Amino acid sequence: MIQIVALPAFSDNYIWLLQDTAKHRCAVVDPGDAGPVLKWLDQHRGWVLEDILITHHHNDHVGGVLALKQASGARVCGPAGENIPCRDLALDDGDTVTVLGLQYQVFAVPGHTLGHIAYYTAQSDTPLLFSGDTLFAAGCGRLFEGTPEQMHASLQRLAALPEQTQVYCAHEYTLSNLRFAKAVEPQNPHVLQRFDDVTQARQEDRITLPSSIGLERLTNPFLRTAEIFVKQKADEWKGHSNDTQAAVFAALRSWKDRF
Ligand code: ZN
Ligand code: FE
Repeated sequence: MIQIVALPAFSDNYIWLLQDTAKHRCAVVDPGDAGPVLKWLDQHRGWVLEDILITHHHNDHVGGVLALKQASGARVCGPAGENIPCRDLALDDGDTVTVLGLQYQVFAVPGHTLGHIAYYTAQSDTPLLFSGDTLFAAGCGRLFEGTPEQMHASLQRLAALPEQTQVYCAHEYTLSNLRFAKAVEPQNPHVLQRFDDVTQARQEDRITLPSSIGLERLTNPFLRTAEIFVKQKADEWKGHSNDTQAAVFAALRSWKDRF
């Protein structure tokens, strides 16, 4: 049985801590800062940090790797296509990696960065996805390295996972993402409901994650490029017709960048 908790880092990052409570062993995803993880380990003596999973090379995801590697000797797993400090296991699309007894599939999800990977397992009670800065709750990462076509394909692939899949992304961006989602689909009742729920949660300083693939399909405009109304809004923003879903995605992403 794996329990997952969020260790907040910086202003809006989450470092996901996976705990095997029976064996007192744990793993972390995207430790941009070693501090919160070292503090947790200090408060939980006897627990062993076995694995460090990395989704992409940005410093707010890898900044704590060196210190954690030195403190624990944990195995560092990360994308083969990027420079990851202390990487022991280089992962590519189609690879699998076993973490705390569960086998994860590795998906290449280029767009935010070119080598970005996501980790998925269906071996837990509900499937789990660690999506880094690719799929956010109600949003997606900015296109720093990849093309809109690449990011659109990456997101569509994640959207095709089982709807009950729990989505653990790396940032608390949900409320601002939903402000944008409301501008795109002001009539979507699921977006309006989620906006109210998340507004309430943030007022109470509660985390808005994990999300689920089912909820993302209903509320995330970047997964909803096939909807006629979303296309119309993208066309309005561009001033011309967007004739492919990737073009609709590109229009939404450029709109959100200025939103
Ligand atoms: Zn990033
Ligand atoms: Fe990030």
